[in-house]
Amino acid sequence: MIEDKNQTRTSISELGEFGLIEHLTEHFEINQKSTIKGIGDDAAVLEFKSKQIVVTTDLMVEHVHFDLSYMPLKHLGYKAIMVNLSDVYAMNANATQVTVSIAISNRFPLEALEKLYAGIETAAKAYDVDVIGGDTTSSTTGLIISITAIGEVNKNDVVYRSGAKPNDLLVVTGDLGGAYMGLQILEREKEVFKVNPNNQPDLDPYAYIVERQLKPEARKDIVKLLKDLKVKPTSMIDVSDGLSSEIIHLCKQSNVGAALYENKIPLDPQVISTCEEFNIDSTTIALNGGEDYELLMTISQDDFLKIKGNPNLTVIGYMTEKENGMHLITRGETLIPLIAKGWNPLKDQ
Ligand code: ADP
Ligand code: MG
Repeated sequence: MIEDKNQTRTSISELGEFGLIEHLTEHFEINQKSTIKGIGDDAAVLEFKSKQIVVTTDLMVEHVHFDLSYMPLKHLGYKAIMVNLSDVYAMNANATQVTVSIAISNRFPLEALEKLYAGIETAAKAYDVDVIGGDTTSSTTGLIISITAIGEVNKNDVVYRSGAKPNDLLVVTGDLGGAYMGLQILEREKEVFKVNPNNQPDLDPYAYIVERQLKPEARKDIVKLLKDLKVKPTSMIDVSDGLSSEIIHLCKQSNVGAALYENKIPLDPQVISTCEEFNIDSTTIALNGGEDYELLMTISQDDFLKIKGNPNLTVIGYMTEKENGMHLITRGETLIPLIAKGWNPLKDQ
């Protein structure tokens, strides 16, 4: 862990579990009307009236999902919230509450947890969600964070993975591959640092992609944009594992096929130049690199004019009959079957 030797280290045992939770959460505000009771009782109390409720959980384990040698704890707290909100937005819902559960080893002083919670607080404020509870326990090894996010959606607005129809347009937000290439840069600098600790890395040329890895933003803005444009996607999913595996999820659950155009995949110039530097193919990275937290959706062709020219939304292909399969159409107009090589921590270990 990158640690400042002069920093104070307050042992968690000095506070005790209750003192710790109180200390970490004392600045948290309650802003959502649906939160009746937040932290402090045996359970939180929520009231949503006529909405449908979405609930999603993610578990993040040190050394599997994050590495504290280059992931500052504040960013980790922020990212842990984003990962969950992204799933809520992928249902076309509005995120309203989160719970935060942590398992910590005695390796972590209070000051480390304060940083983690500062990131959680920043994210909760920026995305207007209430932190309404969680659980705290000890771990014999690494840090474990589990977050549950809750959201609300009008019954008629909810979007599943299963509604895509042949001829629907395949649309993605933002650009892809950045988070994965940012990770490659951070891994490389970590190795350089091991050999020569005095070497200060110059990350400036990689600022965008490193930020995509360390401080991703969930696309709350897209849920609003779609509402403003009066477009309801026929299906939607967030891009956490890579474009290829997300397209396959939409196809399988919707019983359709897909054609994806290589030359339409949105890539930031920094992703392209870093791929050249590492001598890897940028399409492969967009297809299989994970953690971009963009939204992938299908929309009816009738809605094309409503999204045409919008800088947030790129049409990258279209859905087909299931029998046509799922293909990448390359720049040379060759058809390559899509396969899910998405990031899976249970593989390759
Ligand atoms: P219990 O014994 O019923 O599990 P706790 O003492 O664990 O209760 O929790 C007390 C309150 O603090 C509850 O409202 C709980 O949701 C909240 N809480 C516990 N741990 C955390 C945490 N890591 N982050 C936020 N809230 C927490
Ligand atoms: Mg508890």
